[in-house]
Amino acid sequence: MDGTILVINCGSSSLKIALFDQQLNKLASGLAERLGKDDAFATLQGRQEPVRLPAGAGHKEALNALTSALQGCGLLDDVPAAIGHRVVHGGETFRKAALINDNVLAAIKDCADLAPLHNPVNLAGIEATTALFPGVPQAAVFDTAFHQTLPRKAYLYAVPLQLYRDWGVRRYGFHGTSHQFMVNESARILGKTQATTSIISAHLGNGCSITAIRDGISVDTSMGLTPLEGLVMGTRSGDVDPGLFDFLSVKGMASQEVHRLLNNDSGLLGLSGQTNDMRTLCELADHGHEPSQTAIDVFCFRLARYIGAMMASLTQLDALVFTGGIGENSSLVRRKTLAHLTLFGFTIDDELNDQHGSISDGQIEGADSQFRVLVIPTNEELVIAREALAAAGPGIAD
Ligand code: ADP
Repeated sequence: MDGTILVINCGSSSLKIALFDQQLNKLASGLAERLGKDDAFATLQGRQEPVRLPAGAGHKEALNALTSALQGCGLLDDVPAAIGHRVVHGGETFRKAALINDNVLAAIKDCADLAPLHNPVNLAGIEATTALFPGVPQAAVFDTAFHQTLPRKAYLYAVPLQLYRDWGVRRYGFHGTSHQFMVNESARILGKTQATTSIISAHLGNGCSITAIRDGISVDTSMGLTPLEGLVMGTRSGDVDPGLFDFLSVKGMASQEVHRLLNNDSGLLGLSGQTNDMRTLCELADHGHEPSQTAIDVFCFRLARYIGAMMASLTQLDALVFTGGIGENSSLVRRKTLAHLTLFGFTIDDELNDQHGSISDGQIEGADSQFRVLVIPTNEELVIAREALAAAGPGIAD
């Protein structure tokens, strides 16, 4: 055992890893993509050129290639002290990270009908890692766990309660590790304890969600039973009238087609007709491309509406926090969103906003703003490493 912590995040056709030391300094990160295809590759970022994997290589081959590369660089001498896995859905079973054993594996399998695209892939990653590093403690860190503190009034849908009782139909929320990191970091920046910090956390990446955090715990969030609900996203619609499903089925669309339409062809991509990439959309909008301008407008207005909605769960607001690729990098999105919220007393300092908070410990609000506004780079891998270390128990690498 060499005292490192390995973090693993399996997607349907990708695998990301990160290696941390015991002080939680990141030593390396790696990525494998196009798994299952002919042109799968793996690379340790900044340390090697992408290496072609055998055609059809899966998560196991990718993990072998990346851990061998870590060993080749002398970063992983032996086996890691602990391993943390991102697992998307923990249902109502997991309120925090769990040390993986047979019962935990069975419970993750039980949650698979809530996340059929994600949990089986996460389980495949755990299986591959167990084969490679038998006996090393592994922790499952759930995207949903941070939101298990939601009160009943926030997690129930107004549908017959039997659907909740029989099938677990309720709002679960996702991006929990990122929102958790936002409240940790906000507390640090504001010089408060986490238990007394209340924020609205907007995670804006390809997937987008917003969470109200009161006194350190999640009390409302925009994603629901699935990650489709809520904000406008890269290719997901976010909220639509539930009557749309019926309307589209009358028009002859099968449920799988509706699923694809709302998950893969909607959001920024659907509105712009061009791309799901906000950076490209901003460039197109700059050149007068109207559908791209419209996509950005809809994105920002929906976000502003949700910020207003999240206020209903709070009794104080220490900061509104932006994170994720868009939240951290798009001064335009932050400015346009806050322009809708002047009634609440939000103002923004254009210069600090253009610098993305980098010269002001994240703070971008105007001097006269009623509330702090922060830009904080997310670090989900760090949260997973921290949780893995905690779950594996003290003194594991001494
Ligand atoms: P993921 O959810 O896949 O982790 P990210 O958090 O990396 O995604 O966010 C990706 C999004 O961030 C993309 O829409 C990308 O265009 C956007 N983004 C990154 N940099 C910028 C930038 N400078 N300006 C605007 N958008 C940006």
